[in-house]
Amino acid sequence: MGVKFLRGGAFKPRTSPYAFQGLGVKGFGIVEKAALATGLPAVIEAISEAHLSPIRNVGGIAQIGARNMRNYELLKAAARAGLTVLLKRAPGATLKEWLLSAEYLLKYGNGEVILCERGDSFSRPGPRGLNLDILRAALNATALPVIADPSHATHDRALVPAQALATVRAGADGLMLEDAINPATALVDGCQTMGIPGFAALVKQIKKLPKNG
Ligand code: PEP
Ligand code: MN
Repeated sequence: MGVKFLRGGAFKPRTSPYAFQGLGVKGFGIVEKAALATGLPAVIEAISEAHLSPIRNVGGIAQIGARNMRNYELLKAAARAGLTVLLKRAPGATLKEWLLSAEYLLKYGNGEVILCERGDSFSRPGPRGLNLDILRAALNATALPVIADPSHATHDRALVPAQALATVRAGADGLMLEDAINPATALVDGCQTMGIPGFAALVKQIKKLPKNG
């Protein structure tokens, strides 16, 4: 289908301390196995410095999530570890704040940074959807790749395809989409997770869009 990366969270930053916190090291092993089986690089979120070297050891890309966009010490540490970093925009963060966080990675690291727009709320109710203005502004302001995450932006799989198509039309460099064989049994974010048939149909639609350079 043209998928270039696998993303799986093992260490989950959850809003509620009572929510499932991720499988931790065991989950990490599962993501590693999936990456090896598919030959795709794995993107794994680091929520503390301790997660950086395990990610580096499997040749992974470190996600620094929305909650940690302003965790400047974690940004420096990820950069110094030589990792490629996928940096999500924090809800409400301005373009300048987001790009300055990226500057921490560039100043201390190897320059391999991917920006990811993910909307302005952490949960429902709240503003739904991607901030396409900021996405477009980021594409204009920087040569770094800019992708978007319609799943976390909408918290609703029914809203994901339209947002994904809008992302591609805006000229973004890629998409992050949460998918599962059976979203109903997902322990995290099942409501925003697409099933495989829906995902395949969306990819087909995306491929039909005219290329915008
Ligand atoms: C995630 O990508 O799984 C996640 C927790 O996203 P965000 O940091 O954008 O809330
Ligand atoms: Mn998620």
